[in-house]
Amino acid sequence: MIPLADIQPASDWQSQLRDAVNCGEELLARLQLTPEQTGFSSAACQSFALKVPHSFVARMRPGDPADPLLRQVLGHRLELLPTRGYSDDPVGETGDAITHPGIIQKYSGRALLILSGGCAINCRYCFRRHFPYSENRNSRQQWHDALQHIAADASITEVILSGGDPLLVSDRQLATLVEQLADIPHLKRLRVHSRMPIVLPARVTGGLLASLTSTRLQPVMVVHSNHGNEINGEVSLALHKLLDANIPVLNQAVLLAGINDSEDALADLSETLFAAGVLPYYLHLLDKVRGAAHFDVPEEKGVTLISQLERRLPGYLVPRLVREEAGEPAKVRIRG
Ligand SMILES: *Cc1c(COP(=O)(O)O)cnc(C)c1O
Ligand code: SF4
Repeated sequence: MIPLADIQPASDWQSQLRDAVNCGEELLARLQLTPEQTGFSSAACQSFALKVPHSFVARMRPGDPADPLLRQVLGHRLELLPTRGYSDDPVGETGDAITHPGIIQKYSGRALLILSGGCAINCRYCFRRHFPYSENRNSRQQWHDALQHIAADASITEVILSGGDPLLVSDRQLATLVEQLADIPHLKRLRVHSRMPIVLPARVTGGLLASLTSTRLQPVMVVHSNHGNEINGEVSLALHKLLDANIPVLNQAVLLAGINDSEDALADLSETLFAAGVLPYYLHLLDKVRGAAHFDVPEEKGVTLISQLERRLPGYLVPRLVREEAGEPAKVRIRG
């Protein structure tokens, strides 16, 4: 019998992905904005392409050059300025941490698998914007090697599917991989780090839910949303599908100047996430990647914001402020 997926047309999320906006002028025209109002630079998009699904564009406010969602994706001329202390690999992911192509093992018990080089959206502040994905792409052989490596290391109890965005792979590829992982006896948990449930909620398909829940591995999903405006009804519905399938959902955000670096924005993000069933997990200080200096928020301001949140919100709605540092045994917790 031919599996259903073979005779079906490309699924909705795949066509939405293909149709993503990749032209700054088009994006601005849709929002009734001009390059001058926003600092848009097409040159900035030559080294890191502009890419944003229509679903995410629909959540931007037309006519607002400071829209927090627009700012996350629009190439800006400030990206081109030289900045001291910003590098192409700020978190040390291309050096010793790579023991095998496609695997990053920095922390005890956890192995991060790079499933896909791309993302459904290109976030301008991303620390992987210069990552040499082509050298870490998963050929069939690499896959096999990565799985063998995990099978041979009994200290690994949790596999984190990451990228890029791991949910760019098809449901069928994902199901196969998860089944293979479930055959490795020392693995307990399967974590997925994906921004797709937020930026392209149609990605949360029945097939995805099935592949994450039909083995003995305990699933957990960590999504990535930086601003309450990212969560609309469509996203909330997708998040509830994950929750209804008994997949806990946590959020990581990045603290970004001009986007969420205020007490109100962060409190609203936590409240909005929780209303959609999601708990805040990490608030990351920006990784110092070349081209992202204009998003940086000083550490002291981050600490102040967190203490303001602690005074205002229940403890479970306050994310942990962390920084990623090469060579450290865990993400470094920042406290006042
Ligand atoms: C962030 C990260 C993890 C997960 O860390 P947790 O603190 O468990 O969320 C694992 N591996 C790598 C390489 C990471 O960057
Ligand atoms: S979705 Fe995540 S990995 Fe992809 S560009 Fe955005 S921040 Fe980077």
